[in-house]
Parts: sequence; C-alpha cells; structure tokens
Amino acid sequence: MSLSRSNISLKPYTTFGIEAHASRLAVLEDIAQWKALQDEAMALNLPIKILGGGSNVLLTGDQDAYVILNRLKGIEVLEQTDRHWLVRAAAGENWHQLVMWSMDQGMGGLENLSLIPGCCGAAPMQNIGAYGVEIKDVLERVETIDRATGEVRIFSNAECAFGYRESIFKHEAKDQFIITAIVLKLRRAGTYALKMDYGDIKAMLEQMQVAVPDMKALCEAVMAIRRSKLPDPAEYGNAGSFFKNPEVPTPMYDSLKEKYPLMPGYPGTQAGFTKVPAGWLIEQVGLKGYRSGQAGSFARQALVLVNYGGATGAEVYAVAMHIQEAVFNQFGITILPEVNVW
Ligand code: FAD
Ligand code: NAP
Repeated sequence: MSLSRSNISLKPYTTFGIEAHASRLAVLEDIAQWKALQDEAMALNLPIKILGGGSNVLLTGDQDAYVILNRLKGIEVLEQTDRHWLVRAAAGENWHQLVMWSMDQGMGGLENLSLIPGCCGAAPMQNIGAYGVEIKDVLERVETIDRATGEVRIFSNAECAFGYRESIFKHEAKDQFIITAIVLKLRRAGTYALKMDYGDIKAMLEQMQVAVPDMKALCEAVMAIRRSKLPDPAEYGNAGSFFKNPEVPTPMYDSLKEKYPLMPGYPGTQAGFTKVPAGWLIEQVGLKGYRSGQAGSFARQALVLVNYGGATGAEVYAVAMHIQEAVFNQFGITILPEVNVW
C-alpha cells in the first residue's frame, strides 16, 4: 500500500497560500515511519522535501517531489534545576504553542519569539529571531536523522553554526538531515535579563501600563506589536520577511549615511559590518505597498511580500526581484531572500 498520496495541492500547507501540486505527499507522525517513507521516495525516484508549517517557503511551481509533512509530536521536560529546565519539543510541534506553554510554566527565554508561525523543527534552520533574541540563545541541541545513513545525529548548539538567519542546515548540511526534535534550556525568572531594548517594546509596555515587566508582560507586548504590524496569513498569504536585513561593510554604510542621513544602522553580526533594515531600503525606493497583479509589498511592513489572493509563486518572485533590483540601483546593496524558494 502506498504511504503517500499523489498529485496533492500544497495550497493548504504553506502560509503564502499559493497553488502548486506535489507529485506525492506523505505525513510523518512517528520517527519509525521515516525509513519506509524514504524507501518509497527512492522507489519513485523522487527527491524528498520536508515541510513544517510552510511559513518560510515560496512555491514557484509544481513540485516534482516527495513532500513530507513533519508532524512529530511531544513536549517533555528532560531536566529541572533551581536555575533552568531542559525541554525537548518534537519537530512537528507548533512553535508559538510551545512559547505559550513555556510562559504558562514560568519557563523564561522564549518571550521575544512569540507569534512566529511554523513548527519547532524548522526553528533552528534559519535560527529564528525577533526583538533581539534568536533561538541560538536558548538552544541546547538539535536531534536529527542523517538521511544518508538513517542514523540519529545530535548537533550541539556550536555544531549548528548559527548566524543571522543562518545555520549549518541551510549550508553544509543542507538537505542531509531531517530535524526530529529540539532541546531548549529555559530559565527561571530572575536568573536572566529580559530583552526589552528593541524596536517598539518599551513604548508598548508603557502603553500597556506595565511598570515592572516580567516575562509574560514582555511576551504580551511582543504579541501586541506583531498583531499591529504583520499581516495574518489567514487574511493575506505571506511568509514573514521576504528578505534578510543586509549587512554592509561599515565604511560603505558611513558613506551612504552621508548621502542619506536618516539611514538606520545597527551593529552587524561580524565586526566591521553594519546591519541596515531592508524594510527601510524598500520604503526609500518607493516600493512599500507596491503591488503588481495579486502580489505586492505589504503597506504596513514593506519587507513582507503578500499574496492578495490567487497570486502565483512566479508573480510573488517577480515582485521580489523588482524590489531587489530597485534597492541595488539606488543603494548598491543586494538584499537576499530569507524565504526558501521552491
Ligand atoms: P517551513 O516553511 O515548513 O520550512 C522552512 C525550511 O525548513 C524549508 O526549507 C524546509 O524544508 C525546512 N524544514 C522544515 N522542517 C524541517 C525539519 N523537521 N527537518 C529538516 N528541514 C526542515 N521568522 C523569524 O525568524 N522571525 C520572525 O519573527 C518571523 N516572523 C514571521 C511572521 C509571519 C507572519 C510569517 C508568515 C513568517 C515569519 N517568520 C519569522 C518565518 C517563519 O515563520 C520561520 O522561519 C519558521 O521557523 C518556519 O517554520 P515552518 O515550520 O513553517 O518551516
Ligand atoms: P522593527 O522593530 O521595525 O525594526 C526594523 C529592523 O531594525 C528590524 O528588522 C531589526 O533587525 C532592526 N532593529 C530594530 N531595533 C534594533 C536594535 N535595537 N538592535 C538591532 N537591530 C534592530 O522591526 P519589525 O519589522 O517590526 O520586526 C520586529 C522583529 O521581528 C525583528 O527582530 C524582526 O526580525 C522580527 N520579524 C521577523 C520576521 C521574519 O519573517 N523573519 C517577520 C516579522 C518580524 P532584525 O530583523 O535583525 O531583528
């Protein structure tokens, strides 16, 4: 009996809501099923592609592939001390629900990462980050299966080679492992400093009349800001920020700043580089809210490209390339996609 269904629409499985079909679609609910699914894909001579919540993928056409939805479930506390907990979450668990669960347990560290769509297994892929915190700050290890050998392979935090929206899984280890679980080190209140110096957080806490913020208040503030700015994929299909914020050599930034005195800049992840918000660059070239057909840049957040309904992946990609070119022509800066283009 076949373990997969053939010619299946992927529209319900990515947050861009774009129509495209997969040759085969299978669901992984138990690690023990992995080998059988892999064997079937091989017998069909189809490459495997893994989807979690589909919130960081743009489908530009039908996928001649064996797509596996990772639905491995389970959250467990592995260790508890007077300072921290080690929590293991299976790859198919919803990330935001894990954040909410941790807040309910009084386990700190994830409050700035609330309302990020998708599954736990994809979180290390691009080292998800928001409001000054990245998963690398709380991640202990990543459990995977080596797709070539079928053996379990554990990656320590250091082995994940995390960078700004980067990890080994997007580079040297690309398509070589399926992430089956993550293990996080979450902290007791008072044993770490809440991160509140980013963007609009302080203003939101003031608006919420929070005098002494705790992890839950900070989490509420982050959620309120995100709800006010970001399009809900249920309304407008999107995959969050389409581009990464570019990091340019600081001397280049300094000379651009002379020409554009309002250009924001933040310390880059490498010494000698300055991070420039891509959203600001897009706004400057007049493309915030730009629309072509059913695809465009969101009016409240230029960095987010949206499907206004019925857009094709090619249309969204064409908008992205138009924006990329306009930014390069004005600033000499190449903004690169953060979203995985399939
Ligand atoms: P998918 O889109 O399903 O997959 C992403 C990539 O990971 C694909 O290449 C896929 O093949 C691979 N993959 C997925 N699961 C596995 C696995 N188990 N093993 C191996 N490979 C796997 N991102 C941020 O960093 N910060 C934000 O603040 C943020 N905000 C967002 C807001 C909105 C409204 C949206 C739509 C997206 C946002 N994102 C953000 C992007 C996205 O939510 C994250 O990148 C998220 O981690 C993707 O999870 P997913 O399960 O949907 O991954
Ligand atoms: P914002 O607060 O308007 O800030 C614009 C950009 O400036 C951000 O992208 C952020 O970079 C940078 N920034 C702001 N304050 C900073 C500081 N104190 N130090 C260093 N950099 C600073 O951003 P936003 O668009 O509303 O997003 C808020 C947060 O959620 C950001 O961290 C953003 O990355 C995250 N987010 C990510 C996605 C996604 O899909 N990846 C989608 C929505 C929101 P960074 O992006 O490097 O943090």
